[in-house]
Amino acid sequence: MTQKRDYYQVLNVERDADDNEIKKAYRKLAIQFHPDKNPNNKEAEDKFKEATEAYEVLRDPEKRQTYDRFGHAGLEGMTTDFSGFGVNLDDLFGDVFGDLFGGFGGRQRAPKRGRSLQYNLEVTLEDVIHGKQVTIQVPRVETCSICNGSGAKTGTDVVTCPQCHGRGQISQSQGFFTMSRTCPRCHGDGEIIQDPCPSCRGKGLVQNTSEIKLNIDKGVDSGFKYQLRGEGEAGVNGAPSGDLFVVINVAPHERFQRDQNDLITTAKISFVQATLGAKISVQGIDGHEELRIPPGTQYGAQLRIPNKGVPIYRRSHSGDLIVKIEIETPTQLNSEQRRKLEEFAKLHGESTNQEHEGFWEKLLGRHEEENPES
Ligand SMILES: [Zn+2]
Ligand SMILES: [Zn+2]
Repeated sequence: MTQKRDYYQVLNVERDADDNEIKKAYRKLAIQFHPDKNPNNKEAEDKFKEATEAYEVLRDPEKRQTYDRFGHAGLEGMTTDFSGFGVNLDDLFGDVFGDLFGGFGGRQRAPKRGRSLQYNLEVTLEDVIHGKQVTIQVPRVETCSICNGSGAKTGTDVVTCPQCHGRGQISQSQGFFTMSRTCPRCHGDGEIIQDPCPSCRGKGLVQNTSEIKLNIDKGVDSGFKYQLRGEGEAGVNGAPSGDLFVVINVAPHERFQRDQNDLITTAKISFVQATLGAKISVQGIDGHEELRIPPGTQYGAQLRIPNKGVPIYRRSHSGDLIVKIEIETPTQLNSEQRRKLEEFAKLHGESTNQEHEGFWEKLLGRHEEENPES
């Protein structure tokens, strides 16, 4: 993704510009770069989108405040409420262009930017560790390929509305003054389709499901959002398409927990290994890893195997594999093992159950017989 420019810089206004200044600044850019005036000009389209996005944010007091405090990163967090979602572009165009185009005596069908879409994509922990190219099926509204969006049957044309003569408005004189209203024949479009395209029934748009390829980067986590510009729904009459936002959800893994870029797992060792130290093998995400247990390791100790966690997004290194140590208490000992342990306890000055009743017999349930209440 390219680096985003500062919104104030995009609109060329001061940081303390008021609503009116922001609106004026956007209007100027929107007129200059509007797709209607710059057909097939990718650079103008990008400029138009960039300005529109800046305006969407700076016109909204809440978003503007968030942006002022946290920059672009602050708005990333406003998941579904940003850039296309919750922003009614009809309002935006009406607001900014209403009087502008009104003065031209009607215009043809109003350009309308396509809706932005959100796609929630579940991936595995392995996918974000190794990176992966995925193909997603996106149902969306697209420009009709038969009529190229005109809505008119091939070989026929869109004609100027005979009722309003292309103005989109009709005037009625009432006494001293004249009133204008939207033309009922063309609904303000200024033109009508006499012979509609059979594929889209005159709408210029069709519902389709498209395959879109996306590279999942190493190191992304749940909530990460890809913005695919222009991959949302098609715009009307030359207006830009909306964007497609792909929101990543990393599914829980049965063996590993993720903490930022570290992976957490557990390993069981014996109390002898914990006491004397050992070298053990731990199942990592890419096979077995060797781990040195230092002498005197306690239950719950967290040992790290460096660089065996999740890759850090856009860096060449990874987090660590953290191994939580569990110590297993043996439940079966032969007589020799038991004697050695009792000896060890004596050397250590510890009392055990051996004088009164063997701990192991107790485990086997003998004490129940000696309990006077039973
Ligand atoms: Zn069509
Ligand atoms: Zn009309």
